[in-house]
Amino acid sequence: MSDIETPSPAMAKAPTAKPWIQAIHAYVPGKSKGKDGRPLIKLSANENPLGTSPAALAAKAQAPAVYPDPDSTALREAIGARHGIDPARVVMGTGSDELLNLAAQGYAGPGDEVMYVRYGFSVYDIAARRCGATPIIAPDADYGTDVDALLALVSDKTRVVFVANPNNPTGSYMPKGEIARLHAALPTDVLLVIDQAYGEYVAPQDDDGALALAEAHRNVLVTRTFSKIFGLAGERIGWATGAPDIIATLNRIRGPFNVSGTGQAMAQAAMADVDFVEASRIHNLDERTRFVERITALSNHGLRPLPSQANFVLILFEGLLTAEAAFDGLADRGYIVRWLPGQGLPQALRITIGKAEDMYVIASALREMAEAAK
Ligand SMILES: *Cc1c(COP(=O)(O)O)cnc(C)c1O
Repeated sequence: MSDIETPSPAMAKAPTAKPWIQAIHAYVPGKSKGKDGRPLIKLSANENPLGTSPAALAAKAQAPAVYPDPDSTALREAIGARHGIDPARVVMGTGSDELLNLAAQGYAGPGDEVMYVRYGFSVYDIAARRCGATPIIAPDADYGTDVDALLALVSDKTRVVFVANPNNPTGSYMPKGEIARLHAALPTDVLLVIDQAYGEYVAPQDDDGALALAEAHRNVLVTRTFSKIFGLAGERIGWATGAPDIIATLNRIRGPFNVSGTGQAMAQAAMADVDFVEASRIHNLDERTRFVERITALSNHGLRPLPSQANFVLILFEGLLTAEAAFDGLADRGYIVRWLPGQGLPQALRITIGKAEDMYVIASALREMAEAAK
């Protein structure tokens, strides 16, 4: 027996994650329970309050023992037909989250810069860091996306620019002219990713022109999702379109069977159920309009709803009632919304547009709390 001691497990060297991975703050999902574990009505994750199309639910049965179509062929053809896009220019993802990450990974790495705006979607920060690139955060203009601020930060290291339109968590929207101006001023070797997760909520006449840019240029990728208006957040299905080279890049690095067979069938049925999608859009428009009116009426108490083109509203609390107190007060009344101190927004709540009665109760509760605040 040798008397050399083997090191205790606690002393032995452990694998070390890369420093750029260690710098990532893991995504914080919208919660569905209160602090005491009570289930609450969830208006924290921008899900569809009308649920899922019955046609999509009916499409659910799929043989689980066989691998799905690795290319989601029928689904891509349906997407192509719906949007007038060549299906060869469409790639599917495990949610659009996968595609956002792959876009960064495909075009940026250590030493490169990936840009997005402050108060942007938190996945962009993860996507930038995950591939070892340096995140560059452009200042906002009163919570909205500021094209000039983005352009001012472009350098010869910039590889990818992410913008969500409408943006999450602010709900702000860049009109077609601003998107075109941003694209026109970017170097042609910078990939512009336009994330249209809420695109179906935007009125057709307000289209931002992103899909047309992706069709016409070699440096634009547009991402969409089945998680929001289509009510399929649980199935994890997103898609993206862009120039053939970009699609080929993403196809090289995506998971080979990244969309389940059930998911492919449900997404196709959900897209075909145009009545459900339109009803969801109209419900959102009506209830969002009413809710914003009710909150705007509380401006004398410092509540300020930001204009939104999405299925949620960001309310700023600039008076005596704080966002944190309002968050707790809504939880006491059975609702969980999104308070975002971790994203630099301790003064704001993001509230998903839910059912009519819930939006009424929430607006009334906010009035009661604002009037009582001192
Ligand atoms: C919800 C959301 C997504 C969609 O994520 P999935 O992975 O498709 O569920 C993408 N971008 C933004 C801005 C979102 O809010």
